[in-house]
Amino acid sequence: MSKKWVKQARRKSASAKPEPEPRMAKRLVRPVGQGTAFESWLRAARRLQLPHGLVIEGARGAGKTTVLQYLTAALLCPSDLDEDEPCGMCRICTLIANDLHPDVHVVRRPRDDSEFVTKETSFHRITVHQVRALQQELQRHAIEGRARVATFVEGDHLQEDAQNMLLKTLEEPGEATFLLLEVARPEHLLPTVRSRIQRLRVLPLTDEVIRRELDEKIPGQVNRFDDIVGAAQGSLGLALEAGTERAVHLHDLVRGWLDQTQELRPFATARAVLQGVEERRHENDAARMFLWLLRSELRRRCDALVSSAEGSYPAMSLEPWTTWLERTLQAERDLELMIPAEQVLTACLVQLMS
Ligand SMILES: [Zn+2]
Repeated sequence: MSKKWVKQARRKSASAKPEPEPRMAKRLVRPVGQGTAFESWLRAARRLQLPHGLVIEGARGAGKTTVLQYLTAALLCPSDLDEDEPCGMCRICTLIANDLHPDVHVVRRPRDDSEFVTKETSFHRITVHQVRALQQELQRHAIEGRARVATFVEGDHLQEDAQNMLLKTLEEPGEATFLLLEVARPEHLLPTVRSRIQRLRVLPLTDEVIRRELDEKIPGQVNRFDDIVGAAQGSLGLALEAGTERAVHLHDLVRGWLDQTQELRPFATARAVLQGVEERRHENDAARMFLWLLRSELRRRCDALVSSAEGSYPAMSLEPWTTWLERTLQAERDLELMIPAEQVLTACLVQLMS
């Protein structure tokens, strides 16, 4: 090939538009370790016999979103390959896995500044306005047939007025209409809402299941599996997060903080936690991960102290660790209120010193 040709080809490729990202990159994932109760919910969903209101309950990272998506696919997948499960391969299943299905209405609060925030939406709450908009959507016919599904991400953040408004839809949902609420704190739902919905608890995974998944997904980190599984407490989401490079860095910060009690520097530590993080949403994720690792390390140390005492009172008091555990939980609640991560971390670490 002549040099001229090569040059021309280069110029052409430089001016060409970059390849568009594949929009349907994700495949539907079947939740692991959810037992027979989940299977009977799935069968009900395949037959469109799911309750019209269902809460999917579980801690952060427990896999609520995976369960919710799979149930949604069970409702909407038109394939007759399997009468008890969604096929996981058809166009509908793929649309659902990529949050692109026109009959699935997702309601959630904006995650950060980059998302559209109007005076009718809020960082803190899912608002009345959003529920009203959803109700209007649900007036229309399903586009792809079978059913319509409204999913609430962090449904425990529904404003009280919004929950009251939702009651109407829970009482008269319309034909083949299903409301799925993903919640970590069901006590935030009004009793009137709770009495009209059924609950599906996402089960914590056994250490063995988590180990198997880690083996498949991050085999390079096998020497950290004990640490990761110990901290994950049955949550695959948290286990995978704990396997990232950032988490390793955060874990080092946690140990540094706990072991060098002479050199406590809250401001520097808070900054080190957030170093290199660009978006506000990711700042919150990093702060939450740090608090979570701090808590799991504190718990581990408390347990070690108690078990070394062999039934008698431990030689050393568990204070201040138990108070510290409480304070990290409070800090996590502050993050949920969208207080800036650096402020929350610094305040928490200053409190741990007092
Ligand atoms: Zn399918």
